[in-house]
Amino acid sequence: MSTVFSKIIAREIPARIVYEDDQCLAFHDVAPQAPVHILVIPKKEIARVGAATAADDALLGHLIFVAQSVAKEQGLHETGFRLVINHGRDGGESVPHLHVHVLGGRALGWPPG
Ligand code: AMP
Repeated sequence: MSTVFSKIIAREIPARIVYEDDQCLAFHDVAPQAPVHILVIPKKEIARVGAATAADDALLGHLIFVAQSVAKEQGLHETGFRLVINHGRDGGESVPHLHVHVLGGRALGWPPG
């Protein structure tokens, strides 16, 4: 399914992009929930983490690696940060294109709401 994130990848709608390579794209969330809130998405259309297949194994690892690199670039390695992937209704997923949230810049509550 084509989503708003596919349109961002295709540059059909704007985003504040902070990182891109052949496999993924990272950009600021339009409705930030923390001082730093960046999304890392695969260019491949995978609806959600549970839709990944064994062929996506390395891509999933790459997304996590890029997410922590983005966190470092944003100066979050010292203070800390959180990576979040929401799957489905109860997980709070609203865009059906896999994305890793990078959240930081304030103390984050636990457990999540
Ligand atoms: P989730 O609820 O986990 O599916 O996260 C989807 C995220 O995408 C939310 O945090 C939204 O604020 C964000 N979002 C939706 N549309 C855009 C957009 N056009 N640019 C950047 N972030 C977006």
